[in-house]
Amino acid sequence: MPGTVGVIGSINVDLTLLVDRIPGPGETLLGSGGTLSPGGKGANQAVAAARQGAAVLLVGAVGRDANAAAATELLRQSRVDLALVAEADDPTGLAVVTVDRQAENSIVVVPGANLAVDIARVTAALPRLAGCDVVVLQGEVPPQTVEYALDALAAAGVRTVLNLAPVVPLAAEAIRRAAVLVVNEHEAEQALRILTGGRLDLTGEPVPDGTALARALAAAGLAAVVVTLGARGAVLADGGGTVHVPAPAVAAVDTTGAGDAFVGAMAAGLASGLALQQACELAAEVAARTVTAPGAQQSYPWAGEPGRPSA
Ligand code: ADP
Repeated sequence: MPGTVGVIGSINVDLTLLVDRIPGPGETLLGSGGTLSPGGKGANQAVAAARQGAAVLLVGAVGRDANAAAATELLRQSRVDLALVAEADDPTGLAVVTVDRQAENSIVVVPGANLAVDIARVTAALPRLAGCDVVVLQGEVPPQTVEYALDALAAAGVRTVLNLAPVVPLAAEAIRRAAVLVVNEHEAEQALRILTGGRLDLTGEPVPDGTALARALAAAGLAAVVVTLGARGAVLADGGGTVHVPAPAVAAVDTTGAGDAFVGAMAAGLASGLALQQACELAAEVAARTVTAPGAQQSYPWAGEPGRPSA
């Protein structure tokens, strides 16, 4: 039986510009691209979870502008419940991504309406969030909202997944309320600094690898930790030790949004009753599929959809 996933998070449009090189100060360059695609970590994760069969409720905000329709198009198509997506005075969140010929990018994010995802909105959403099997949070709405939601949902006995991306300065006690923390390797080091008050204790681990980071995070008081490792898959750590979940070998063309696909699919798996390791295995399958097609949400597979041949 499919479970219910709540997502409290960002909804953006991504404007991607292709240039020969990133322009310098005062410089005007001709480029190409310029298409708008739906993005934002909250929206991406909601689409990924819905396409794995979860009933998904998204708590977020968009502006009263033309970009709102583009930002929510694939959420609607994926049948995400948008009843708790507010219309705010600020414009819909916008990420301007400039990509050069070496595939280096520079990104400017304007949070806009996402800043309206405040404590009052989460309070109003609590009765519905309390009915979810799993609620997912990230770092693209105000940190005080994330802290409040982690506390309130823990008090209500709801299992939370915290994807601390980007790493925002949350109180260590709030992070420890998450049932599962999901971070990539860079975020794992930063999260460890927050949890250990700046002291990184990786005794005996000269180069902190994913397993060492996951183990250290679990030892810093988290119930369960997943560190994603790109093409190397993910490591999960909980009271029972660490497990490596490999990534299927695929021909990667665009890794944009792979982390969000992983988190959304993992949440859908947990909500449907899978154990954490099985949910991570599902997430690794789904995330690998997304890197074989361009874009973020548009590359997310539906459960049961045939995959592309592996590399
Ligand atoms: P982020 O994009 O947040 O930095 P990662 O790069 O760790 O996160 O990727 C998240 C997950 O996506 C990985 O754990 C893995 O399952 C999957 N993934 C990413 N890149 C690849 C790849 N090249 N091949 C297969 N799976 C991948």
